[in-house]
Amino acid sequence: MTEQSWSQGELLYAGKAKSIYATDDPSRVMMLFRDDTSAFNGEKKEALNRKGRVNNQFNAFMMQKLADAGIETHFERVVSPQASLVKAMKMVPLECVVRNVTAGGICKRLGVPAGETLDQPIYELFLKNDELGDPMVNDSHAITFGWATAEQLADMKRLSFAVNDVFKALFAQAGLLLVDYKLEFGVYEGRLVLGDEFSPDGCRIWDAQTREKLDKDRFRMDLGDVIESYELVGHRLGIRFE
Ligand code: 5GP
Repeated sequence: MTEQSWSQGELLYAGKAKSIYATDDPSRVMMLFRDDTSAFNGEKKEALNRKGRVNNQFNAFMMQKLADAGIETHFERVVSPQASLVKAMKMVPLECVVRNVTAGGICKRLGVPAGETLDQPIYELFLKNDELGDPMVNDSHAITFGWATAEQLADMKRLSFAVNDVFKALFAQAGLLLVDYKLEFGVYEGRLVLGDEFSPDGCRIWDAQTREKLDKDRFRMDLGDVIESYELVGHRLGIRFE
């Protein structure tokens, strides 16, 4: 497919913050990052000016860093300030969370204090199911109920940690702490490939010195300056937003 032949087709899927459109190439879809922002399983919602543009360009930068490190992702290229062309994949209905520092869900679930640096990163799996509130699951559930094969689960874990090695160092160089993040994977031509997005919507990033929150927790906790913080993180990483 050439740059010129690309065109937007029908809406295939609308999530809480992104919409997926068909293109004239069945192996590619367009991912549109909307300004819509949601938290607490859709209970808190707001449209935040510039969020779609910022997250699209943030995600493109991060996916390029993974490609540079030899980690395959679905990302192909940015096609407009708010949209990117990606590989069409069959998504695995699981969310993979990696934690370097305790925060959020793990503190509530296990009663551990927030802000503790972990000797080894923790890896957790959640079922992507809004009605059930994305419950935590394990490999045994995933295999038994057919959400992923044992091989895919092993690949998801290996790749989630590989992403951590690349991103932890990248954020650290910018004086930022990558606290935790969520990844989603899909299958493309039989291979397990990283999909979805990596933006401050799906991770926790703190200033390494002050520990100020610079991610979606600003929205969740009504701290203000949500998109300004996303842009600050981007600028510190070297992103120049259009
Ligand atoms: P927690 O389990 O602490 O709520 O989330 C851990 C990390 O994964 C956080 O960085 C959070 O933003 C991200 N995360 C977990 N579930 C979701 C989700 O459904 N959507 C998004 N955007 N991020 C999620």
